[in-house]
Formats: sequence, C-alpha cells, structure tokens
Amino acid sequence: MEDKSLCPHCGEKMKKWSVPPMSTWSAEYFYVCFNDECSYFVRGWKHMEDTTRSACSYRHKYDPETGTSGPLPVWSDEAARSQIMED
Ligand SMILES: [Zn+2]
Repeated sequence: MEDKSLCPHCGEKMKKWSVPPMSTWSAEYFYVCFNDECSYFVRGWKHMEDTTRSACSYRHKYDPETGTSGPLPVWSDEAARSQIMED
C-alpha cells in the first residue's frame, strides 16, 4: 500500500490541513506538503513568475475524500499555515 500521506515530490509526511468552509471543496481536510524545501513548491515560484508574472506558488495536496491530488496555491511561505491541524 502506498502511503498517501507522504509527499510524492519530497517524501516528507504531509500535514492535515483544514479546508476553509467557504471553499468549493467538500472534504473536511486535505493532506498538504508544508516542506519549504519541497521541489514542487520551490519550482512553483519560478513557474508562476514565468507564466503569470505573479509571486505565488503551490504546495502538493492530496484530497482523501476524492483520492485526487493537485496543487494548493499559496502566495507566501506562511500562507495557509494557520489552517494546519495538529494531530
Ligand atoms: Zn513535498
């Protein structure tokens, strides 16, 4: 069994992240990689700067309800950290 709570980009254990109630996602929480050294996150800054000229990036997220993973957009290292759920 593949451990879905591990980030596929850096191998770090992802954190449970509380989904904002105003969002369009139905899940209660996602697993999100909050490793600032994660290659996915690091590459995102450059990619977004090159393609959209905006200073933002994204972190890897996994939605345990739908079983899908994808980017969670963030605008700074600290963004979205307040929604981390400690076990
Ligand atoms: Zn990662």
